[in-house]
Amino acid sequence: MNATTHAIFGVGALAGASLALGTEPPPLWAYPVAAVASWLPDVDNPRSKLGNGLSRKKNPLLNTLTRPVSWALRAASFGLFRTVGHRTLTHSLLGLLLFCLPVYLFLGFSPALQLALVCGVASHVVADALNRWGVPLLWPLRKNFRLLPGGIRSGGVAEFCVAALALGAFVYAAYLLHPALGGLVEEVVGTV
Ligand SMILES: [Zn+2]
Repeated sequence: MNATTHAIFGVGALAGASLALGTEPPPLWAYPVAAVASWLPDVDNPRSKLGNGLSRKKNPLLNTLTRPVSWALRAASFGLFRTVGHRTLTHSLLGLLLFCLPVYLFLGFSPALQLALVCGVASHVVADALNRWGVPLLWPLRKNFRLLPGGIRSGGVAEFCVAALALGAFVYAAYLLHPALGGLVEEVVGTV
């Protein structure tokens, strides 16, 4: 799955989980957090969006601020790739547990941030389980699990259709969660 599909699944999972759990509607900043979190499991691939570090910014101050994060991401990527390899620990239940534990322990001050991070990362594993290779849910056991028989090809028409469906579901869920936002859109559309 490409980065855009993962981001759609991330924000969709956040909206869906908020509806299912009946929690407060997530604040708007939680959606970009869920999208970025949805790219985290692929940090084990040095060529992925986050594994490759953050792109250099035009603004020198911003560049200086983001560089430590960028190097940390690259170091984590290299370390994971060289030890456990791509699509292993970070795509398993064990990896999910190792991620959720510090989120639960240290970020209790913001349930919205916790939900966004967990939904983003978990949605990545679910999205990858739709493709041909599946995911090694029980890693270090080497058995891959797929949600669809045969799975769908990454980057193909099927992935585009799945992403479009997920986007539709997200827009509907967001409309239910944030009726004021829906009203705003209707107003903008009405004035065009
Ligand atoms: Zn992945």
